[in-house]
Amino acid sequence: MKLNLIGGDWVEGSAIRQNINPSDVDDVVGEYAQADAAQARMAIDVADAAQRTWSLSGIQARSNALEFNAAELLARQQELGTLLSREEGKTLAEGIAEVVRAGQIFRFFAGETLRVCGHRLPSVRPLVDVEITREPVGVVGIITPWNFPIAIPAWKIAPALAYGNSVVFKPSDLVPGSAWALAEIISRSGIPAGVFNLVMGRGSIVGNEFVKSEKVDALSFTGSVDTGRRLAEQAARGLKKTQLEMGGKNPLIVLNDADLDIAVNCAIQGAYYSTGQRCTASSRFIVQKDIHARFVSRVRDALKALNVGHALEPETNIGPVVDAEQLRTDQDYVEIGRHEGATLAYGGELLTRRTPGYYMSPAFFTDTTPEMRIAREEIFGPVACAIAVDTYEEALDVANDSEFGLSAGICTTSLKHATHFKRQMQTGMAMVNVPTAGVDYHVPFGGTKGSSYGPREQGSYATEFFTRVKTAYTQA
Ligand code: NAP
Repeated sequence: MKLNLIGGDWVEGSAIRQNINPSDVDDVVGEYAQADAAQARMAIDVADAAQRTWSLSGIQARSNALEFNAAELLARQQELGTLLSREEGKTLAEGIAEVVRAGQIFRFFAGETLRVCGHRLPSVRPLVDVEITREPVGVVGIITPWNFPIAIPAWKIAPALAYGNSVVFKPSDLVPGSAWALAEIISRSGIPAGVFNLVMGRGSIVGNEFVKSEKVDALSFTGSVDTGRRLAEQAARGLKKTQLEMGGKNPLIVLNDADLDIAVNCAIQGAYYSTGQRCTASSRFIVQKDIHARFVSRVRDALKALNVGHALEPETNIGPVVDAEQLRTDQDYVEIGRHEGATLAYGGELLTRRTPGYYMSPAFFTDTTPEMRIAREEIFGPVACAIAVDTYEEALDVANDSEFGLSAGICTTSLKHATHFKRQMQTGMAMVNVPTAGVDYHVPFGGTKGSSYGPREQGSYATEFFTRVKTAYTQA
């Protein structure tokens, strides 16, 4: 059984959870200890006690620890990628790529540790100097979702540790395997006991303690809007620094002048890879009328050519849905789309494969209007819809008419429209002729409206959340 890491010790929980392979529900990936509320509080206490030592350990020691994690993640990419695909259901290629991404993130922040800058300015008062420096925030509570079991933890844990914070980390209860493997590597990276703690278990128990505790100074959360909103309200009462990354309903605009090959590739990759279970997945194709019929026909052909199957089989393009509940949600939305009057142009069926798993063919709706629920609500599965529009201006209006604002894309050969789109799209990320999903690790990530709250994640912008600013005045 895999245990929790609290104060440098591997600690049993109060219950055990089985981690089930969604490609083959007879395959138990492992058993994982579930912490109770008292253990979560204990982890917070030790993180609080260890934080100052870590913040004074020096940037070389911190950089070395992060580099240790980077090197081991990259060296073990095949093994850890296999574990990730086995527990989450994304294809092996996607699983390995995610582990590589986690390694790259740790390597990036190993460098960032050495590049924390401040400013020194003259004061408006003669003979006084002003220094502006960055300091750790303190104890950071990290709560992550199931769809990126190692990359999202990495892009929160690496900057937290880089800038001298201590960490209490609660991974998704559904996929604790990759998170545990990451924690085990970090436990050997040379950081003092208590600086990094893994507390597996339910969000309502373990996560709730992070949100309630006065000793947790900052909370970095990725997950659904409903959970994020609740956490933010509670965290605000404790005046915690809060960073939330939440849902999306990301549009991909296809204009008449688009390169059709590029548009179809963006649609298929963006909407259906990783089984559509990405916060940045395209779920609304907003297509100008002259290219609409050709686009629909090509997307349908491309979908027919995709193999849905066991995540670890080499011919698989699309793995299973993560669990029975998400599969039910996806199937419900297929029914909702039908009832709303959209045309199911392809897929949406439950599939039987060699092993018992949560398989569904990618669903593609046409004749969709912007008011339909399938065009407005986040489904978080392999379900997308096409909305026909007359003009670029109408496409932009439809794209912006959303409670979300994470990522948006346009396929066009018009510099004028591409430039206008980048300026006018009300999202945190705007993509021209590239899929809405798939981002770099050295630049900021995040959205607007209901998709994000608080400072951006990733890249050098991570200092905004994981450090706080001090202004010092000195008269010589
Ligand atoms: P979720 O149900 O909101 O859960 C996210 C995390 O919050 C889990 O670890 C969960 O614990 C925990 N949690 C639940 N209730 C809690 C509470 N009362 N107090 C503290 N923690 C609590 O989301 P999900 O289903 O795992 O993930 C899917 C969602 O994540 C989608 O909406 C997707 O768009 C979003 N997402 C956003 C981004 C982004 O960067 N914008 C990236 C990836 C995913 P349990 O393990 O017990 O559920």
